[in-house]
Amino acid sequence: MKLKEKTATIFTYPWDLHDEGVENALDFISGKAEFNSISLALSYHIATYFLPHNPRRKIYYGDHGALYFQPQSELYANTCLIPQTSPVVHGEDYITHIQEAASERNVEFCAWIVYFYNHYLARKFPQCAKVDAFDNPYLALLCPSNPDVRAYAVALTHDIVSNYRPQAVNLESLSFRHFDYGFLNAKVLVEMTPLQRFLMGLCFCPHCLERADQAGMDGAQFKRQVAGYLEENLKHNPLPEEMIPVSDETLDTLFGGELRKFLEVRTEIALSLFKEIVAIVRSYGDVKIQMGMPKSRSGDVTGLPASEINSLLDRTFDSPPYDVYQIAGFVREKRSNLPEKVEFLPLLQPDYLKSESETAAIIQAYHAGGCDGIAFYNYGLARKQHLEWLGSILAQS
Ligand SMILES: [Zn+2]
Repeated sequence: MKLKEKTATIFTYPWDLHDEGVENALDFISGKAEFNSISLALSYHIATYFLPHNPRRKIYYGDHGALYFQPQSELYANTCLIPQTSPVVHGEDYITHIQEAASERNVEFCAWIVYFYNHYLARKFPQCAKVDAFDNPYLALLCPSNPDVRAYAVALTHDIVSNYRPQAVNLESLSFRHFDYGFLNAKVLVEMTPLQRFLMGLCFCPHCLERADQAGMDGAQFKRQVAGYLEENLKHNPLPEEMIPVSDETLDTLFGGELRKFLEVRTEIALSLFKEIVAIVRSYGDVKIQMGMPKSRSGDVTGLPASEINSLLDRTFDSPPYDVYQIAGFVREKRSNLPEKVEFLPLLQPDYLKSESETAAIIQAYHAGGCDGIAFYNYGLARKQHLEWLGSILAQS
């Protein structure tokens, strides 16, 4: 199969399309740039954006976690979480206008959904936020153990998939996240060991403790153990021999094996919700599940082991190395770690693209590695020139 006949999805923010004119932007995306899919943000986290070709705003200070559509409020009856809609959204057809324009051009509409990385909701409803061993709420993240958070994820998924009927969804932050995820202008000036970061990243909210108790642990006692360990170990600079990745042996044996039990509880919490969301999406018909490729060791942090998740996906992506000579091997290795039915898309960003000839070499390496298409990040964050280079190469690939 030729590369141009495979999936070519471009991550896109709705405001970039509206600012340029939805029809114009989609003509460009599906024409000169040769993409056949847009992964469009419908629920998104905070960021500050430099938008080089946006005719209305070169800089955009984004919201602290917002929806880019008007939610169907009755779907959220089972959760205390009330999401905000971004003020950038105008008109009831803000998303349907894009969806229809994409459909007219045979461009797949993939709904890009950010779930628990949401400063607005974590601040407004801190009882739903992640909580560390010292009882600090993390005001960037919602905890997937919390029944209100789980009900919110269910409602958001139904809302988006039933009302906008995407052909694919891109699931993001539908899990636990690591220690400093979502820190704004972070001031972390002391060295921390990987183990300290790992332990500081665990959630000990009342719902996580309750789940630990139900699994036969003493959640409160385990939390005190972790807090005591951290209190003692954060007093001094780490020794060089402590600056090593957290090993499976450490996770298995620390705190007399209680850490491993707690991680198994977290996996059950995150994985059961992930499977529930995938089932909801699939209940609406042939909707593809797309997600960033889980790193092989990240399951202990997120609760989503790659070995369990990969087979639930239809499509996944990851960023190749910058060195063009390493790309084909990278793609081959990633491809080989996935079930045959799952598409692997190397994720290309504008900072990879120095010239048209270098862009051609990258695409050639993707092809040589056996990729199933490409993903590009992101329409508004790139120059049109990058997308023209890419389009002319994809047209010939
Ligand atoms: Zn929790």
